[in-house]
Amino acid sequence: MAQLELDGLVKTFSDGSDEVVAVDTVNMSLNDGEFLVLVGPSGCGKSTTLRMVAGLETATEGDILIGDESVIGKEPRERDIAMVFQNYALYPHMTAKENMSFGLKMTTDLDTEAIEQRVAETAEMMGIKDLLDDPPKELSGGQQQRVALGRAIVRDPAVFLMDEPLSNLDAKLRTKMRTELKRLQNELDVTTIYVTHDQTEAMTMGDRIAILDDGVLQQVGTPLECYHRPANRFVAGFIGSPSMNFIQAAVEDGSLVHREFTYALSAETAAQLDGYEDVVLGVRPEDIQLSTATGPEQTVTATVDVVEPLGDLFHVYVTIDGKQYTVTVEDGADLRNGLTVGLKFPEDTIHLFDSATGTAIK
Ligand code: ATP
Repeated sequence: MAQLELDGLVKTFSDGSDEVVAVDTVNMSLNDGEFLVLVGPSGCGKSTTLRMVAGLETATEGDILIGDESVIGKEPRERDIAMVFQNYALYPHMTAKENMSFGLKMTTDLDTEAIEQRVAETAEMMGIKDLLDDPPKELSGGQQQRVALGRAIVRDPAVFLMDEPLSNLDAKLRTKMRTELKRLQNELDVTTIYVTHDQTEAMTMGDRIAILDDGVLQQVGTPLECYHRPANRFVAGFIGSPSMNFIQAAVEDGSLVHREFTYALSAETAAQLDGYEDVVLGVRPEDIQLSTATGPEQTVTATVDVVEPLGDLFHVYVTIDGKQYTVTVEDGADLRNGLTVGLKFPEDTIHLFDSATGTAIK
């Protein structure tokens, strides 16, 4: 167990004459035993960050500390970390048991009996006791991932690094393994960075999540902090499903003015917009109140485009001034395409962003 700190971490790759900044001055501090999910779109630098911590990639600048000790310059095997990959990376010619024991034989001075015992205990914990003599090709994807996790756990490292470990599993198994992995990590209490591009995985698994875009860390916070108080428009759009709706509006006399509506703000919110000529209004699909009544008590009138029933909920796609927005409602059975509806944006749920920088104002 250990704290983990990334201090001004930079990675640039030379691509012919071009230089790609894959990771741009990332600062991050994980508490002992914390499960931090590093999330962001494809190509934002998640894997590169993780690979630098693992020692598989050299940092261009910055420091990485495990406990109080810098691991820059240390070989991967000297870093007391265990990594789990998306493609499991099991040795094909070894049985599950040999896969799990191999790292221990190479990096510890435990004797054969002690190794056997640790592998057996871990296999029991992972529910793979009966698979120990099988080679990877005889195991299903889910079983292979259990062996890969078992191989990481058995080493009892200071830090776990996981790079999209559930991506190759089907949706149902992924949800099951998500819960299991979270429970295991809780039990083992090992400091963990878990990389994913899937915001649902991030929201459900992370003690905290770190959101990366274009190599730059956008926000680090608990899932609910990032959901309720996104630091900027990128985080607001990335966290939450379906995504937050954004509407550009002018600021005039304490109101947001759009071609289709004028939204009178409270004095308190209006004061926050002092000096702004325009802003981006953000409103989550689940925060919009939709009604078939239209009138002055509604924020805006919209036309229903498509209604998607999900069982417990409906996603309703509506058009305002030629642009499509999403609304989530519980009761959408009577909604039809082409219907005119009223939408209300309760002020305590709206977000406001600087239209130039994207920084959150409210
Ligand atoms: P994904 O989810 O698609 O794996 P990611 O967020 O993990 O994406 P990285 O793989 O870390 O992103 O890549 C970050 C950026 O660095 C990308 O622009 C990528 O093209 C670039 N990059 C990564 N590895 C190299 C390399 N070895 N040489 C040159 N560029 C690289």
